[in-house]
Amino acid sequence: MAAPLPLPPLDELLERARVVALPLATRFRGVVEREAVLFEGSAAHADGTPVWSEFSPFVEYRPAEAAAWLAAAIEYGFDPELERRLDGSVEVNATVPAVAADEVAGVLARYDGCRVVKVKVAERGQSLADDLARLEAVRDALPDARLRIDANAGWSSPEAVTALRAIAAAGIELEYAEQPVAGVEGLAEVRRAVPGVRIAADEAVRKADDPLAVARAGAADHVIVKAQPLGGVRRAAEVVAASGLTATVSSALDTSVGIVMGAQLAARLPEPRYAAGLATVSLFAADVVREPRRPVAGRIALAPAVPDEALLREHAAPAARRDWWLERIRDCWELLAR
Ligand SMILES: [Mg+2]
Repeated sequence: MAAPLPLPPLDELLERARVVALPLATRFRGVVEREAVLFEGSAAHADGTPVWSEFSPFVEYRPAEAAAWLAAAIEYGFDPELERRLDGSVEVNATVPAVAADEVAGVLARYDGCRVVKVKVAERGQSLADDLARLEAVRDALPDARLRIDANAGWSSPEAVTALRAIAAAGIELEYAEQPVAGVEGLAEVRRAVPGVRIAADEAVRKADDPLAVARAGAADHVIVKAQPLGGVRRAAEVVAASGLTATVSSALDTSVGIVMGAQLAARLPEPRYAAGLATVSLFAADVVREPRRPVAGRIALAPAVPDEALLREHAAPAARRDWWLERIRDCWELLAR
């Protein structure tokens, strides 16, 4: 992919990198700790405070994939031209995991003022009846909320068609159904079969050209986008515009610094805006800022997230992991410098 300009010298990037290992509240993707690099960038906010950015590709990603994440961190922390709003906020959604219906109200109570709810469905070992009961429990708890579902590609095409028709028959209107099945062709097939339901692509959208492929294939009405894997907030906003689809910004299990990068992307997208999937810092047992960026009245503030020096030290990654991450920055920087 093309380099963000200007690319800071590698030595400067390495000097500004702080590598942390943050404990998660619950196991995620098989890990109990999330490693991330925070850069104190050379760019400054309009009020003079330094801009911090985040580089946190998952550890299994190869440099070719992780380079886009580094481009995003460089753009956000080092590009003096990038617009970063100091005030305002973006709406975010609550997320209800595949819990029993009687646990739904308790989950929702943890989100302050969210009026859009993403409900996980198609969990392995559960039935459509479980999904319907969970959706009905959400509707009962928050009758005015907008609902969306996320199947994480857990249904086959016939299962997805049956489920989406059953949800509609139960009188539950969905904002969209996220990744009901795997793959671009599967999405297109379900979308043709259930024309009344908007289909969103998430897992099918990872690289900057994926949203365009999804749009060309008629596979989705909507895409889920993340600032880091798409190479930064500017590029991600451009990709969404080029796709002609509406979009929801989500997090990649980011620290509060990455959450603000995501919120800045959400604020750049045109109306109508969709509540962002950025209410995720509660998945961490610790963060790099004193006040983790949680939703307040259903919204995430755009104000800068500035890591706390004591927290950066407390959660500093062990030397061997720090070296691994610095090597990874080197590898990705070299790919971007080509
Ligand atoms: Mg999803």
